[in-house]
Amino acid sequence: MHTNNSPLSTWALNVSPSPTLAVDAKAKALKAAGADVCGFGAGEPDFDTPEFIREACKKALDAGKTRYVPAAGLPALRKAIANDYLSKGFRNIDESCVVVSPGGKMSCYLTILSMVSPGEEVIIPAPYWVSYPEMVKLAGGIPKSIFASDKEGFKITPEQLKSAITPKTKMLILTSPSNPTGVVYTREELAAIVEVALEAGIYILSDEIYEVLVYDGATASSPATFSDEAAAHVITCSGFAKAYAMTGWRLGITVAPKPIAAAIARLQGQMSSNCTTFAQYGALAVYEQPEKAKAAIEVMRTTFDRRRKTLCDALNAIPGVSCHCSRGAFYLFPNISSFGLSSVDFAAQLLEKELVAVVPGSAFGAEGYIRLSYATSDEVIKKGAERLARFCSTLKK
Ligand SMILES: *Cc1c(COP(=O)(O)O)cnc(C)c1O
Repeated sequence: MHTNNSPLSTWALNVSPSPTLAVDAKAKALKAAGADVCGFGAGEPDFDTPEFIREACKKALDAGKTRYVPAAGLPALRKAIANDYLSKGFRNIDESCVVVSPGGKMSCYLTILSMVSPGEEVIIPAPYWVSYPEMVKLAGGIPKSIFASDKEGFKITPEQLKSAITPKTKMLILTSPSNPTGVVYTREELAAIVEVALEAGIYILSDEIYEVLVYDGATASSPATFSDEAAAHVITCSGFAKAYAMTGWRLGITVAPKPIAAAIARLQGQMSSNCTTFAQYGALAVYEQPEKAKAAIEVMRTTFDRRRKTLCDALNAIPGVSCHCSRGAFYLFPNISSFGLSSVDFAAQLLEKELVAVVPGSAFGAEGYIRLSYATSDEVIKKGAERLARFCSTLKK
């Protein structure tokens, strides 16, 4: 490898800043300056972390749980997570298959870093979560995206996957429910995709961070539960951030076949060591008080569902906008291509003229769309949708 003339490495030079964090930062700055911003940019629940989790963390802190624990996670937490996944139909796992990492983002990144070598390809269905291609690049891998538009319900087909696989393909990334589209694949759809991957001998990173946030009778399925062969090829990443409004706690979960989990733990042992010890005690409360955990999720889920319907109806009522009312996560991904503006220009003008913050679709590998998060108040949704409608009425179609 030749040296470059920059103080920065090829890794730093090649990685793009997170556009979702950038939109959020800009909206927060405008807000701080006194502007009445309607923010649809944030990818985080607007709830507080449930009290029983906060209490467990405070108790741990006061009990002196402030020292290092094993890098892969608090043993009791790993065991509780393994049991939880076993009860959900995961096969051949125990606590040695579980790694607790500093955030679901880190869980995904360490999985990629542990499995993808320079020059290997990772297939990423678009619209995709902004971080996947950058993570693959940071591992020296090559991201290859395959696209499914709103016409396809934002779902890739087994045939599409098949034609994207090359001898260099190492991994496929699946995200259901999806960020940014909110789409949830059915078990049958996933099974057909998983079959293609298994036939080709490639691995699947299944990002299931939005697993519990499904609406209208949709259910999220875990490819790792499909068969023993699938269990040997699927690495499941998840975390506490979205389900329990714990974004700031930085706690992610990976469930993987033993040798892969061990490799992830090894990398984490050199890169960060354990996640914050008392934060892990907070997370442990989720498994020790399952009734409270279930109730907390249900409050948030029903609230998100109500906002989802309100926002989707409002978006579809705007001439020129069409929105697939997906049934998962807390995002909608309306099509704004009829206005003839790039998604970046659309989002920039919308923020400037109407103080409405959205994320341009191009950030997710999908031009002609914008992402709106409905993890915000009913009031902001109503006001924001009115402003968006007014903005659209000023554009040529
Ligand atoms: C939010 C999110 C994560 C992980 O978030 P953390 O805050 O790092 O736990 C992972 N994948 C997707 C698709 C997400 O939207």
